[in-house]
Amino acid sequence: GVLALVIDNLHQINSVMGHQIGDLIMQHVASRLTENLREVDFLQRIGAAEFAILIPHIQGRQVAVLAVSKFVNALHEPIHIGGRELHLSAAFGIAVVPEHGEDGASAFQHAEFAMREAARSQLDYVIFNRGLQERSRELYSLETELRRALSEGEELHLCFQPQVEIESDRVVGCEALVRWRNAKYGEVSPAKFIPIADKSGLVHRLTVWVLQNAVREYSERWAGQEDFTVSINISALDLLDPDFPELVVRTLNTWDMSPRNLLLEITESAMMEKPRAALKSLERFHHLGVQLSIDDFGTGYSSLTYLKRLPVSELKIDRSFVGNMNDDADDATIVRTVIDLAHNFGLHVIAEGVEDEATRNQLQAMGCDLFQGYLLGRPMPAPEFSDFLERHQ
Ligand code: C2E
Ligand code: MG
Ligand code: MG
Repeated sequence: GVLALVIDNLHQINSVMGHQIGDLIMQHVASRLTENLREVDFLQRIGAAEFAILIPHIQGRQVAVLAVSKFVNALHEPIHIGGRELHLSAAFGIAVVPEHGEDGASAFQHAEFAMREAARSQLDYVIFNRGLQERSRELYSLETELRRALSEGEELHLCFQPQVEIESDRVVGCEALVRWRNAKYGEVSPAKFIPIADKSGLVHRLTVWVLQNAVREYSERWAGQEDFTVSINISALDLLDPDFPELVVRTLNTWDMSPRNLLLEITESAMMEKPRAALKSLERFHHLGVQLSIDDFGTGYSSLTYLKRLPVSELKIDRSFVGNMNDDADDATIVRTVIDLAHNFGLHVIAEGVEDEATRNQLQAMGCDLFQGYLLGRPMPAPEFSDFLERHQ
């Protein structure tokens, strides 16, 4: 049998209490798990917050579930560090051979898959099953298709969504959003394939594709616009690639685009995956004169100390808060607070997902600088965006 487990709240602990405490906690976790191993079991750390446990010679999945409950109980005991009591929670995935995989490698992969499902559904454990099997096959097949689409480049295209300055109603930029129409699966939503690209490492090639095409469209179509920015979304992996800034510079040079017309959006959660490396990379972009924005702000766990050090010029409020701010007083309070926070840090704020006039007006009253959303325009292909610009001069 193979168990895979992830400590759910390590990210939060790291950002709230610091990485040193996070490291100590992982040592505690490792020794708690070790104490509960049998002679024949084998424990291995497989990720920042993840472990795998090999439990050989077990008779079926019931025994594996018993093993899991032993580990779950061991982890439920609070941990005492620096006079504080911490409560951890973990999500386990279970796979046994031959029921859930013909060999160790596939059992391991399936245990990891079940673990993600458990974490997503906030369960103590999930046993790998046929439904997951089908989803894992589909994901694998989508990954293969995406790999092919990236090397051929024909199924991908870009759409551009306008961004407007609230006070003046002037269109000041656009966000490039990738679209994928696949022969077998039809139109695949970015919400589905971006996570696949992220997990398989393909996302870096995707970013490069988006960068090159967005920069080319800008220089061929919109270079005459004053103070106009094109935003692209970059992933955690891009931030870790030391050659990425150089690649951005070369692309900009090729198309004679100034760095200040390019804006990179990085989600708050991507930034918090490797905060120190992210900061370094962002500083390099800042020196190059490229603009930076924190996307989906409010959904990650960045601390104010960290935020203060980031060389970004913009916060982008997540659409989950903006979309509800008319009916939900708490969301409206969050939006107002983020706007004030950003301004106090000398940043400007853009709200995403603005769908109606009432929301736009409320944002204006709160002093929000920019907005983006269906109210203004949906993401559209480049020629259509050019027409849009002409109509909004
Ligand atoms: P995001 O960067 O936060 O992009 C904004 C998303 O909100 C887009 O979804 C956009 O179509 C949608 N949206 C815009 N206005 C409205 C509105 O008024 N109401 C609602 N309900 N939604 C609105 P999309 O294009 O499906 O993209 C989803 C996510 O996929 C993006 O979120 C981004 O994280 C990711 N993504 C898209 N293109 C790329 C890309 O080229 N590279 C990377 N790394 N990620 C991308
Ligand atoms: Mg974005
Ligand atoms: Mg966003």
